Amino acid sequence: MTKEEDYKEVCSFCGKSYDSVERLIQGGHDTFICAECVELCYSIIKQNRLGPHEPRQALRVPQPAEIKRNLDEYVIGQEQAKKTVAVAVHNHYKRLQQDVTSDVELDKSNVLLVGPSGCGKTLIARVLANTLDVPFAIADATTLTEAGYVGEDVENVLLKLIQAADFDIERAEQGIIYVDEIDKIGKTYQNVSITRDVGGEGVQQGLLKMLDGTVANVPPHGGRKHPEEKYIQIDTTRILFICGGTFSGIDEIVARRTNEQSIGFGRSGGEHGEADLARLLKEITDDDLIKYGLIPEMVGRLPVIAALMPLGEEELVDILVKPRNALARQYQKYFEMEGATLEFTRKGLKEIARTALEKGTGARALRSVMEKIMLDPLFNLPSWPKGYTYVIRPGVVRGERPLLEERRRKGA
Ligand code: ADP
Repeated sequence: MTKEEDYKEVCSFCGKSYDSVERLIQGGHDTFICAECVELCYSIIKQNRLGPHEPRQALRVPQPAEIKRNLDEYVIGQEQAKKTVAVAVHNHYKRLQQDVTSDVELDKSNVLLVGPSGCGKTLIARVLANTLDVPFAIADATTLTEAGYVGEDVENVLLKLIQAADFDIERAEQGIIYVDEIDKIGKTYQNVSITRDVGGEGVQQGLLKMLDGTVANVPPHGGRKHPEEKYIQIDTTRILFICGGTFSGIDEIVARRTNEQSIGFGRSGGEHGEADLARLLKEITDDDLIKYGLIPEMVGRLPVIAALMPLGEEELVDILVKPRNALARQYQKYFEMEGATLEFTRKGLKEIARTALEKGTGARALRSVMEKIMLDPLFNLPSWPKGYTYVIRPGVVRGERPLLEERRRKGA
């Protein structure tokens, strides 16, 4: 093909040339379409197909107890939070169904989850979306910006939800968005004390509109808006927003208000300290959140507050073995696939939990601790002798003994 012919190859839809698009597909009579336009056309067709007139099955809203039972399968501990959330979510979806035809204004029951890092906040939101079979997206409040600034626009978060719904806008409008680090947008770098001035109010204002319910114009490709682009319209009124944050130090605000001593997140306060912290966190009020730095309008839009507790050693052990997709079970499966068996002793599990606790990132640390222990064994497993049971004891966890030496004949 000559240079000149090359030059003529432009998308007949958007006019972009061959070398500025990912792919250009040829049709008849010298017409072309680029990959981006194919995607855009597809989303428009899908939108029309699933338009508001098409009857669709109503969302089945499970009872709070059923929602809680499902949470129990994946989320260890956090009983109070699971209960609170189960009720809030049930009510949210129930109310949506009943109010569809009436002109009663919907009260949104967006949820605020307060608790240390790696204790299950995102997990709860994810399992809820799964339980209700609605699309789910995660946003990080610290990367959200007011439109026009560098960072991620609010619209991009909605785009993620739309993508999770496979461009079915009506389904996306019933989805769940988890907004992480909601406590960080009031903070500036130098000023992290709990008595600091509030910054980042603009971002909070931007989020407010979304939480409240607005019809947003989402660019189908993400990124900056272009005047010539056709936007996807999505109404956020029915989307359930679950916001989460560590709010570290908020217990001190509660304690000051209630004249109690506080021990703080992450500090080892022993049994007694944990109980105090739990009590303080349960008492968080709107005023405490405002003192912490959230603007009152934001607090007003998060009517349900649930506190999650720091996880202890016992809970981390449970997390390793109990949830449906528990880490220990996953590794056991890998061994099974190689004709071997993997076992954990109680003490071995405790040692893993202790090592993870030291990292201070809650249950999140379990994965990296396990990966470190299991890397060599998984690397070598295919060449190890078959028909053996390999046992993870504390010595293996601490790296003092190779797993290969902790083996016995299966069934022995
Ligand atoms: P965060 O509270 O910071 O949002 P996540 O929910 O993302 O933490 O937890 C990180 C990971 O740790 C999860 O993917 C999950 O594997 C595990 N995890 C955390 N808390 C729990 C819990 N209560 N029960 C079971 N697994 C948990």
